[in-house]
Formats: sequence, structure tokens, C-alpha cells
Amino acid sequence: MNNSVVLAAQNITAGYGGHPAINDITVELREDEVLCLIGHNGAGKSTLLKCLFGLLASESGSVMIDGQDTTRESAREISDRGVAMVPEGRGVFPSLSVRDIFSLGMHASGVPKKEQSDRVEWVLDILPAITEFMNRPAGTLSGGQQQMVSIGRALLNRPRILLMDEPSIGLAPKLFQDLLAPIRALQQREKLSILLVEQNVREALKISDRAVVMKSGAMIWEGQPAELEDNERLMELY
Ligand code: ATP
Repeated sequence: MNNSVVLAAQNITAGYGGHPAINDITVELREDEVLCLIGHNGAGKSTLLKCLFGLLASESGSVMIDGQDTTRESAREISDRGVAMVPEGRGVFPSLSVRDIFSLGMHASGVPKKEQSDRVEWVLDILPAITEFMNRPAGTLSGGQQQMVSIGRALLNRPRILLMDEPSIGLAPKLFQDLLAPIRALQQREKLSILLVEQNVREALKISDRAVVMKSGAMIWEGQPAELEDNERLMELY
């Protein structure tokens, strides 16, 4: 694993309507690692991801990508830097086919038309199960299939940095592993850095290199997954 920092939140404070949801958060995602961000509902995990991806303006602090200050950049600008986000709750349009969702996503991200079919092929190579339901409306798919589509859509941008907000929601642990194993394989094959927000701690730690624990808008622990698993107090909490 390389140690260079690709994405960093530096002393970020942010919230809604003047009420801070996260306070003075500093966290670094390194090149070629899976960093797992753990915390209960309302701990501020999604708020931090939104700040990193330019969807929410922070009150103070900065976001750095590859050492450049991107604090005031839009999601589109951050996406152009090679960052993609899989939002919480899948976010697929129920009436559109998976093929159309992929086309729309690539159109929105400005992927040149002549590259689009290669990108889809590449994603289907990573997540081959999608091939079977490419022409089905997303609303008719199971939760796991929809989550796969949401991840596939993010991968179409060929990101270097992938932010994933609770991909396990509504999935059985086995399905979650089926979903994440190919992403971990891809991450190890290519230089992909992943920030994985999860409440399904045991399953998420299996594929993570480092972990960070958040509580009530603050970071309360950082270390190796094995250390966290040995920490009975924290494991009981999460
Ligand atoms: P979850 O797992 O439920 O998504 P989380 O750790 O991601 O939890 P956040 O969604 O970041 O937590 O929420 C942090 C705090 O900010 C919570 O108190 C939440 O109620 C509040 N909050 C989140 N989104 C909004 C919003 N759009 N408007 C107002 N308050 C919000």
C-alpha cells in the first residue's frame, strides 16, 4: 500500500441551518486503500461525505484532493478530478432501464459517446450479474441488484476515488459480501481508493485496510480493523 493522501478533510465543521452536524473532523484517505467510516445513525457520516463530494458547503475547514484545495468546488468539478460517489439509498430511477440509467449517468458526466460502450463493458466485467437485467426497469429489481446498479453507475466514471454511503442497507450479510468482493478485487487490481461508510461493521471491516469511528459529529477512534475487532468496548457499541 502506498501512503500518499489522495483525499483529505481538514478540520471540517459543517451542518444544516446553522446547527453543526460534524465538528472539526480531520480524516485522510490514502492511495490504494479501503478506509471504513463507522458510526451510528446521525453520527455525521453522510454529512462528511457530502462535504468531500461538494454537495454541502462546510462552515470551516478544507477539503483537499491530491494536495489541491477543492473546498469550494462543485460535485461536477470534483467528479472531473476522478472522484465518484455511491449515494445512500441507491438513487436509481425506478421507471428507467439499467441501460438507460447508465447512458444518462455517462451523458451527465460528459463521457464521450464513442467511449460509452467500452465503459459499460468494463463495468459488466466487474459486476457480471448486471448483464442479466440490463433491460429491466430498475424499480423491478431487488435491493441488492439496485445497489449493484448504483455502484456500476459510479464506476462508469472510472474513478480513482470512490465514496460509498452505506451500500449494505437492506442487504443480508452474504449479499453484501457478494456485492463488495468484486469491488475489493477491482481496488486491489487498480489503484483505487475507497471511503466506505457503513453500519454493518463486521462485514465492512473484512474488506477494509483502516477504520475510523465517528460519534455525534466527532471522530473518536482511528486504527486498523483488527485493533477495532479486539476493542470490545467499541465493538459492543457498533
Ligand atoms: P445515517 O446513517 O442515518 O445516514 P449519518 O452518520 O450519515 O447517519 P448524517 O446523515 O450525516 O449522519 O446526519 C448528521 C446529523 O445531521 C443528524 O443529526 C441529522 O439529523 C442531521 N441532518 C442530516 N441531514 C440533514 C438535513 N438535510 N437537514 C437537517 N439536518 C440534517
